[in-house]
Amino acid sequence: MLQKVLIANRGEIALRVLRACKQLGIKTVAVHSTADKDLMHVHLADESVCIGPPSPTESYLNSPAIIAAMEVTHADAVHPGYGFLSENADFAEQVENSGFTFIGPTANTIRVMGDKVSAIEVMIKAGVPTVPGSNGPIDEDDERTLKIAREIGFPVIIKAAAGGGGRGMRVVHHEADLIKSVRVTQTEAQTFFGNGTVYLEKFLENPRHVEIQVLGDGQGNAIHLGDRDCSLQRRHQKVIEEAPAPGIPQAVRDEVLETCIKACEQLKYRGAGTLEFLYQDERFYFIEMNTRVQVEHPVTEQVTGVDIVREQLLIAGGAPLSYSQSDIQIRGHSIECRINAEDPKTFVPSPGKIQMFHAPGGNGVRVDSHLYSGYTVPPHYDSLIAKLICSGDTREEALRRTEIALDEMLIAGINSNIGLHKELVTDAGFMKGGVNIHYLEKKLGL
Ligand code: ADP
Repeated sequence: MLQKVLIANRGEIALRVLRACKQLGIKTVAVHSTADKDLMHVHLADESVCIGPPSPTESYLNSPAIIAAMEVTHADAVHPGYGFLSENADFAEQVENSGFTFIGPTANTIRVMGDKVSAIEVMIKAGVPTVPGSNGPIDEDDERTLKIAREIGFPVIIKAAAGGGGRGMRVVHHEADLIKSVRVTQTEAQTFFGNGTVYLEKFLENPRHVEIQVLGDGQGNAIHLGDRDCSLQRRHQKVIEEAPAPGIPQAVRDEVLETCIKACEQLKYRGAGTLEFLYQDERFYFIEMNTRVQVEHPVTEQVTGVDIVREQLLIAGGAPLSYSQSDIQIRGHSIECRINAEDPKTFVPSPGKIQMFHAPGGNGVRVDSHLYSGYTVPPHYDSLIAKLICSGDTREEALRRTEIALDEMLIAGINSNIGLHKELVTDAGFMKGGVNIHYLEKKLGL
């Protein structure tokens, strides 16, 4: 069992991790930048250490400073949250080499899954359905590239093996544009990610984004916690997520869930992870795996009753999984709205002082947020300031609760996207369920 955990993150997820540690009686160390000394979890942690100036590269991405903070405070493990160092295999390796526990998979797993080409290889071996594609890197042999693209059929998408955050991708509709686009994407990938490897996939025109939450003990045992739909996106950024994904035939779902577990067992996957899929015409297509806790994990917690961060901590402490697959029942429906500090029209970040914060409440309403009245949202980081998670016996009940909660929620002093969420949860198409990844941008006229 872990004794003292250092939380290498900020904002709502740092608070989320702190709460899970307290629940288990684990001591906590908060690390923060000079801009973040007033974060809620810094006040609540047993100890706190300032690790650098506001710039993330000098603070939350500064591995030596974080490892030094672990040494000074005698922490035995680090929870990386999401973003920042959470999927950095070198960091995970440095942590373990320094004699500490990294709360997440092994550095090797992070590395294999961080390269989309090797991730796809692993998934194919386990029988996970993938997007028809090159199933390997594209080389300098243009004839071969052209042949592969013709076999897949246009349109195709060229993707960087090391890509992330929606960058390093290019859609090609016509054969004549293929080779030129491959070159441009290779150059971009080299510049952005320091790795010019690219591969080809069939470009699916109207998919949904559906993902599967898994937990593994690192010994070859794994379970799934069902699926989530995260199709409402703007610029590849998720805006609303829900569990379970609506309208998926149970047999189709069961089949893919089974292959996901098989993949995690073969990988001897350790900790929490998410396999991301595109879903179109009742078929799943694997695109990538995230080897960390995700922003949208609460909707899964609400419908399964499993505390995912608690499980991460227990697994890292060497405990077996607390549940077997038959313990996991999906009950009701849960919807998460990502509340961002941003201009409702232009989406430009809106940092500043919160004059007043009032969180909604009531049956089935959960708010994960580090906000409090008088807190100043700094301009240096992601604009996510709160997650509103509403659940009910049915999707309709969860939607209605979300609508009521959004009306109750008050964030004064800065701009937020609460208004956009109100529009979305009463939107006829979204209320029907099962919209695709282009729905939100089309609605916004983008
Ligand atoms: P990243 O790691 O940058 O998030 P992903 O591989 O997860 O990259 O893809 C991000 C998004 O790009 C997907 O959610 C989807 O909108 C789009 N996309 C990726 N691959 C395809 C594909 N084969 N067909 C259609 N859209 C795709």
